[in-house]
Amino acid sequence: MRHQRARLLAGLAAIAGAVALTAAQPAPVYDLVIRHGFVLDGAGNPWVLADVAVAGDRIADIAPGLAGKGRREIDARGLVVSPGFIDLHTHARRGIFQVPTAENYVRQGVTTVFEGPDGGSPLPIGEFLAKVEALKTSVNWGMFVGQGAVREAVIGRADRPATAAELDRMKALVREGMRDGAFGISSGLFYVPGIFTPTDEVMAVSAEAGAMGGIYISHMRNEAAGILDSVAETIAIGERGHMPTQITHHKIIGTGNWGKSVDTLRLVDAARARGVDVTIDQYPYTASATGITALLPPWALEGTSRDVVARLKDPAQRPKIKAAIVDALRYDRGGGDPKNVAISSCSWNPALAGKTLAEITRSRGAEPTLDHAADTTMWIVEQGGASGIFHAIDEGDLVRILQHRATMIASDGEVPIFGQASPHPRSYGTFARVLGRYVREQKIVSLPEAIRKMTSFPAWRVGLHDRGLLRPGMKADITIFDDTRIQDRATFAQPHQYADGVVTVMVNGSVVFENGAMTAARPGQVLRGGAYGGK
Ligand SMILES: [Zn+2]
Repeated sequence: MRHQRARLLAGLAAIAGAVALTAAQPAPVYDLVIRHGFVLDGAGNPWVLADVAVAGDRIADIAPGLAGKGRREIDARGLVVSPGFIDLHTHARRGIFQVPTAENYVRQGVTTVFEGPDGGSPLPIGEFLAKVEALKTSVNWGMFVGQGAVREAVIGRADRPATAAELDRMKALVREGMRDGAFGISSGLFYVPGIFTPTDEVMAVSAEAGAMGGIYISHMRNEAAGILDSVAETIAIGERGHMPTQITHHKIIGTGNWGKSVDTLRLVDAARARGVDVTIDQYPYTASATGITALLPPWALEGTSRDVVARLKDPAQRPKIKAAIVDALRYDRGGGDPKNVAISSCSWNPALAGKTLAEITRSRGAEPTLDHAADTTMWIVEQGGASGIFHAIDEGDLVRILQHRATMIASDGEVPIFGQASPHPRSYGTFARVLGRYVREQKIVSLPEAIRKMTSFPAWRVGLHDRGLLRPGMKADITIFDDTRIQDRATFAQPHQYADGVVTVMVNGSVVFENGAMTAARPGQVLRGGAYGGK
């Protein structure tokens, strides 16, 4: 039905083009013209049937039956043409130096990734960006400066407030990060050393980035029982620090907390209603992924990993740590059952990747009770730790957050080495999963709205004013996909599977993916913040 309509409209458009040709001066020649696509502009508008012309690294024109020729023409009949997707939360420096094409992202339609989330950026930012620039990536690359990285550089991993002199040094490091090109500051108040940072200190340090045009983006202190306090803290940091603030990878962890997204979104709405610039990003999975030490209480994590192991071996502290782990398995990230926790990668025993805490507990000769699983957790930490996947999120909360106008899509993924370890499937599937499962199959959000959440909204959020929209003059980051076919294929059991349905991807006017394969082009640019003009 839709395809018949497409043919008809394309025919009319071609006639209109021919008429225009006879009237005016010689038709222009473009580097590339994408013909007859369903063009979604990224602003949330319904598609229009049009041709998109590219000259150099920019969009030259968009019109039905566009006059002029492309040195290369792409037939996008029956396909959606949209801005390339922009992912504000990635850990892409894990893997990008081995896989500079970031193929897992490009095959979902992603053309720009941001690094430095969760408080953890490399420092100095300028030096790191120079390495990315020299590497030549297929995707564009932006950064946040990490509050945790800054604090660790000045105070280490100690659980104490900063002195006045230390605060000044941290502020100076944040300003340096912003001058080097960061788009804002990230925090990971769930992790060491963010976890040891009082709210006022986070605010004072972050306000430096705010004054230079940056946003504050936070992996919150607590995403389980303390979720409402954490959302309030994130809003307060934006409100009192006078800067845009973003709840990153918003989710509700732990069965006893399911449903609380009603309240978190109410807090967001109330804050926005009184003028606080607070937004959200999210990945579309009911499991999170992070270090297995996420199951340990914060106080046990101070200092180096050697300090942590010493605490585990201390007969006075061990039972307290174990009780807290049992609690976390029951009420928090453990989702009430050790089978809900799986190892994703383990340096000292790669064979553990893919195994659940229940399976590992059993293989050590114990019944997989919460108590025994806590023992297994401590044993893993003593051996050198591991990364884990935690199934403890409710689909109802996921959908509610996804539908919110102020929610954008971000993967929280990395650049996996294909076939290696057992990473969270979000690295391969996030954007395709939203478009396949939640747009096409479940109709949770419309296609134009989902594309807005992946393109103009994240660009707008960080002041990236020349990307995220299809308009003449914008950078030519373009994704062409089949909306009837787009789908994630990566699963928790078999994560190393690229997404389906993306046909052609263009970054800065160069095609990086077509005919099912990456091209040799690596046109990605390092992007530097400051579009708000604050610096
Ligand atoms: Zn995070």
